Amino acid sequence: MYNAKAYSASSPTSQLTSTTIPRRDPGERDVQIEILFCGVCHSDLHTVRDEWKDVMPAVYQCVPGHEIVGRVTSIGSAVTKVKVGDSVGVGCMVGADLTCPQCQKHMEQFCPNVTLTYNSPDKGAGPVTYGGYSDSIVVDEHFVLRVPENLDLAAAAPLLCAGITTYSPLRHWGVTKGKKVGVVGLGGLGHMGVKFAHALGAHTVVFSTSPNKRDDAFRLGADELVVSTDAAEMAKHAGSFDFILDCVSAEHDLNAYIHMLAIDGNLTMVGAPEKPLPLGIFGLLFGRKSVSGSMIGGIKETQEMLDFCGEHNITSDVEIIPIQKINEAYERMLKSDVKYRFSIDMASLKAE
Ligand code: NAP
Ligand code: ZN
Repeated sequence: MYNAKAYSASSPTSQLTSTTIPRRDPGERDVQIEILFCGVCHSDLHTVRDEWKDVMPAVYQCVPGHEIVGRVTSIGSAVTKVKVGDSVGVGCMVGADLTCPQCQKHMEQFCPNVTLTYNSPDKGAGPVTYGGYSDSIVVDEHFVLRVPENLDLAAAAPLLCAGITTYSPLRHWGVTKGKKVGVVGLGGLGHMGVKFAHALGAHTVVFSTSPNKRDDAFRLGADELVVSTDAAEMAKHAGSFDFILDCVSAEHDLNAYIHMLAIDGNLTMVGAPEKPLPLGIFGLLFGRKSVSGSMIGGIKETQEMLDFCGEHNITSDVEIIPIQKINEAYERMLKSDVKYRFSIDMASLKAE
C-alpha cells in the first residue's frame, strides 16, 4: 500500500479538504495511473452531500471523481491493454465479476458485483473505493480506457461519465438522421447529449431553464432551444419527439416532457434527482409512450464512444479549475452556472 494525495469530505455538510488516502500496490492485472485531470460530475455532489442515502449511502471520508484521465506510470506483469506513458481514462467503474450474464453482454454497469470508482466496498486498500480527486489511482486493466491521441486531455476527462452516459441511451434508442431528439437540461451531461445527437444526425432541441444558454446551445450543435418555463414555446412542440434524454439533476415536471413525445416516443432519464418524480400514467397510455432509465455504459461501449469522439473530434467544453476551487465549483453547479463541465487540473494538488 502507498499513500496518495486527495481531496475528501468527512460528512455530508463538510467542505472538501486536502487529505491522504491509501492505494493498493499494483497487482499483476493492475495499471497505476498518474491522474492529470478529473471532471466534476453532479453525481459527485449528490454523493458527497449524501443526497442518494436511500439507494447508495455515502461512506466518509468520501473522495469523489469518476471522470479520470491520466498517464500510465506502471503496469503489472499480466497487463496487455496499455503500456507505461499511455494516455488513459477511468470512468465510473473499477471492478465487476466479468463472468455474470450482464458482464458477458458487455454491461458491467449492471453486474451484481460491480465496484464503482468511489464509495463502493473495496477489497483493496480502503473500506471503500476512493475516486479521482487524487494524484494517482490503481485500476484493473479491464476498466482502463484508451484516450485517442488527438483529444485534449482536460476536455476528454468528462467523456468518461458525461460522455458515455449520454452516448449509450442515444445509441440504444436508435437516434439517427431523421429523428427529432430533445435534451433536457444543458449542463455537463446535457451538453454532451447535444453534441452526440447532432453528430448522429438528429434534429436536436434543447429544453432549458436558462434562456442565456441559447447561443451556446446552437454552437454545441442544437437546432433549437426551448425555454421550458415558457408555456407557449413548449406548446409548439407537443407530441413531436421520437426521443427525449432528460439530464436534470433536480426535481422537475416529467409529465411536461411526456406530453412532448410522439406516438411510441421514449423519454429516458439519466438525471438522478434526490426525490421521486410524479408520473401521470394517462400521459403514457395515450400514445403508447415509455419512460426508461439508463446508467453510464459498459466498458466496450465506453471505448467505442471514445473512439467515436476521436474520429469526430468531440470533447467536453470545460472550465479548468485547481482542486482548491472545488467547493466553489459545487455551489456554481447548483446554480446551473457551469459552461459546461469543470475539469480539475490535478497538478494543483502538488501545492497541498
Ligand atoms: P449539471 O451539470 O449540474 O447539469 C444539470 C442541468 O439541469 C443544469 O445545468 C440545468 O440546465 C438543469 N437543471 C438544474 N436544476 C434544475 C431544475 N430545478 N429544474 C429544471 N432544470 C434544472 O449536472 P450533470 O453532471 O449533467 O448531471 C445531471 C444529472 O445526471 C445528475 O442528477 C447526475 O447525478 C446524473 N447522472 C446520472 C448518470 C447515469 O449514469 N444515469 C451519470 C452521470 C450523472 P438548464 O440551465 O439548461 O436548465
Ligand atoms: Zn458522473
